[in-house]
Amino acid sequence: MNSRPANYLREGKTVNSEMERIWLVRAEYDRMLLEARTQYPKEACGLLAGTISEDGEKIVSKVYLLTNTDQSEEHFSLDPKEQLDAIRDMRKLGLKPLGNWHSHPKTPSRPSEEDKRLAYDRQAVYMILSFAEAEPVLNAFHIENGEARKEFLGIVEGEQIA
Ligand SMILES: [Zn+2]
Repeated sequence: MNSRPANYLREGKTVNSEMERIWLVRAEYDRMLLEARTQYPKEACGLLAGTISEDGEKIVSKVYLLTNTDQSEEHFSLDPKEQLDAIRDMRKLGLKPLGNWHSHPKTPSRPSEEDKRLAYDRQAVYMILSFAEAEPVLNAFHIENGEARKEFLGIVEGEQIA
């Protein structure tokens, strides 16, 4: 990733230096959104993969859509077999696993107590797509020791890479 998107700061959004910067390719965001709408009112879920730039920015260039084996409106579990297939696909494409995502059909875009309890990887990006408001809201979080911190998340124009 050698070119930084020109207008990457969303209007009115301030960036704090503690925050990680995470970028999501628009075509992949669209796939996530469609999947979450299709699964509604159940939670949809999946994995995030991409690259990390020299200055530590994470670029999510592929979103994996996985089955929520809980088939629940309030929680999710990623299908283990699909998870392995996704990891294999990432290796094949030379992408790094960057985290996971799930939807909150009726609650806000922030980690639930259960989400925080189950978040074991402090390197991971946790994205939550909420339909609680009129427009979908997607946020990215860092979760460590049961505490969630919202990160900077920007959408970049571009195509899915595979
Ligand atoms: Zn959740």
